[in-house]
Parts: sequence; structure tokens; C-alpha cells
Amino acid sequence: MTTAEATTNAFGLTETHLEIREHARGVARKFVAPRAHDIDEAGEFPDDIRRIFMEQGLFGLPYDEEHGGTGTGTLALIIAIEEIAKVCATSALLLAVQELGSLPIKFAATDEQKSHWLPRLASGESLAAYGLTEPESGSDSAGMRTTAVLKDGEWVLNGGKRFITNAGVADVYTIFAKTDLEAGHAGISAFIVPADAPGFSIGKFEKKMGIKGSTTGELFFDDCRIPAENILGEPGTGFTLAMKVLDHSRPGVAAQGLGIAGGAIEYSGKYLLEREQFGKPIAYQQGLQWMLADMETRTVAARELLYRAAWMIDAGGVSRETLTKYSAMAKLACTDAAMAITTDAVQLLGGYGYIQEYPVERMMRDA
Ligand SMILES: Cc1cc2nc3c(=O)[nH]c(=O)nc-3n(C[C@H](O)[C@H](O)[C@H](O)COP(=O)(O)OP(=O)(O)OC[C@H]3O[C@@H](n4cnc5c(N)ncnc54)[C@H](O)[C@@H]3O)c2cc1C
Repeated sequence: MTTAEATTNAFGLTETHLEIREHARGVARKFVAPRAHDIDEAGEFPDDIRRIFMEQGLFGLPYDEEHGGTGTGTLALIIAIEEIAKVCATSALLLAVQELGSLPIKFAATDEQKSHWLPRLASGESLAAYGLTEPESGSDSAGMRTTAVLKDGEWVLNGGKRFITNAGVADVYTIFAKTDLEAGHAGISAFIVPADAPGFSIGKFEKKMGIKGSTTGELFFDDCRIPAENILGEPGTGFTLAMKVLDHSRPGVAAQGLGIAGGAIEYSGKYLLEREQFGKPIAYQQGLQWMLADMETRTVAARELLYRAAWMIDAGGVSRETLTKYSAMAKLACTDAAMAITTDAVQLLGGYGYIQEYPVERMMRDA
């Protein structure tokens, strides 16, 4: 057992977790790494990688066996996202956003809706998206303007969403809208909107600094009609559901950050051994060794927090406040680590760090 395995096993990772890590690492190196540069350069959604994840069973990790998943839980998903993000943040986001868009259905859909959607999402045949943000409502969800009104046995949605990951490629959108304009947070409800719902359309796609193969776009609802049973839970419970989903899905985004950091350490560590200046590999310069040591220490510390948060989700029984705190701290630690470590990695490569032929500048933009 390597030191790294001994460290992570302090969490009591099971044989299944370790096997999933090996499997995801293999998929990442064999299929994803060779595509990462082109995905970034083309800025196109990598449907080929989605199909590989389907074949390799990666989408099913967080879903119950009853719904076509492997029943392996959140920590298993986190481990897989981390491995994929080491080589390609866009591809890792496929797994993280599938979970984000699915959780409202898992938590609040009827048994019929669950049986319809979850097996397709667990296989990867269908993709999900989560629509909360609007032009006038970012951090302040209560300011949303999209409305939903029950008319003749159908919900009729009007308004729009912005910055929605998987826009245009998702088959199902979990959408938050106001069913009571006067009630603030308590006036928000959640809905399942299939991509082919009448009155639903996709607007413009954003051009981004990084994670360029992932779509980020606008959604429009113009008298968009969905069946009455597509409401998730009771009217007015949408904000509570949205926050519960974020508590459970922040670890996925954290894992993406952690993987980016890990990938930057792996690449720059190898580079230091290969690049020679002053007649020897620059890895022999103690100042650079200190940088690498700090990068690794920060990543391991962030991983401890992240695995703890994921473990809390899988174990259950922790209070909502504790989970909110740990999932937010894990996301903060991992994504801040990603920024700091990719910046250091660019530095470690000298001028080459700034050149697109080397992956660390992409990792810095993705972070
Ligand atoms: C690539 C990408 C993908 C995304 N994917 C999705 C998605 O799939 N689904 C979805 O619903 N949304 C998505 N979003 C939207 C994202 O969740 C919002 O950008 C985020 O909630 C912040 O909202 P905002 O951009 O309007 O910033 P604002 O709310 O306008 O905030 C601007 C600044 O003010 C700060 N600020 C705001 N309020 C306070 C406060 N009370 N106290 C102190 N500081 C404050 C913020 O921290 C920020 O620094 C995505 C965004 C991006 C960029």
C-alpha cells in the first residue's frame, strides 16, 4: 500500500472505493487525457466522453440499485470526479452536474417520476441540469422572476434562467420558479421540465474562461406547459429543496477543484524531474521542492475535509447545519486549493507554464 492510500484509508475507504478509484483513474488516463486539450480548444460538448462514461458505468455511481445505479454513494462519486478532473475538468463536470440535476428528483419526485427519470440518468442515456439562477437573481434566489401557475391541470411557466450548465444537452431540467410572488423564499417551487416541453427553449451560450466544453446557457419559458404532477414536493418548498440539493452537490464541485489541483501537482512534479537547468533537474532546487510540498499539503488537507463531507452524506444522521457547514467548507478549501496550486504549477514550469501546449495553463483557467 502506498503512503497516499494509507492516508485516504484513514477514512475507512472500502475495497469498493479503492476499486472505483483505480477504474476511474484508468478511464481518465486511457480515454479522457488524450482528449482534454482538444475539448478545451474546440469548446465543444464532449459527447464522446459522455458515451465512454456510459460504457464504463461511471454515471451510475451515486444512484441506488433500485434505480439502475451501483448503490455506491457520494464518496464513490467524489473519488471518480477527482480522478477525471486530474486530466480534464470539463469531463469531470459531466458527472458532477448529472448529480446536481438529479438530486431534486431523487429527493422530491413521485415514485413514478423517479422510475421514469433516474434509471436513464444513472445510465447516462439522459443528462440533467439544475436551473436556479436568473439574470436578476444570482446569490439572492428569492429575487427570481420566473413564475409557474396551475391552469387546467398543467403548470404554465414563464420567464428565463441564465448560466445553466448542460443547457442544450440536458434531457431534463429541474427548474425553480415562483408560485407565489408575495411570499419570498416560501413562494418558490421546483419542477421537472423535460427538454421537449412545449414553450421551452434554449437561448445563447456563454463563452467562458475555462471548462469550455461544458455548456453554460440561457433557458426560456414561454407559456411552457408541464403536467401537474411535475411539481417536486409541495408548492412553496422549492427553496428548501434547492438548498438541500446544494448541500449534497457542493462536494462534487469540490472534487472537481481537488482533481484539478492534483493534476497540476502530478504534471509539474514530473516536469521538475525532466527539465534541466544549471546541469541538473530543477527538481534538485530546494525552493521548488518547498513549493511542491506546500501544494501537496494543501491538497491533502482539502481532501480530508471533502471526504469527511461525502462520508457524512453517505453515513446519514448528521444534522442539516453540520452538513451545510462541511460541504461549504470542503468546496471552499478544494476550489481555493485549485486556484493557488494551478497558479504555482504555472510558475514551476517557467515560461512553458504560459504556453498552451502544456496543460497547466488550461488547469489554471479551469480552476
Ligand atoms: C460556469 C458557470 C456555471 C454555472 N452553472 C449553474 C447551474 O448549472 N445552475 C444554476 O442555477 N446556476 C449556475 N451558475 C450560476 C451561479 O450559481 C451564480 O453565478 C452564482 O450563484 C452567483 O450569482 P451571480 O453570478 O449573479 O453573482 P451575484 O449574486 O451578482 O454576486 C456578485 C458578487 O457579489 C457577492 N455577493 C452577493 N451577495 C452577497 C452578500 N449578501 N454578501 C457578500 N457578498 C455578496 C458575490 O459573492 C459575488 O462576488 C453557474 C455559473 C457559472 C459561471
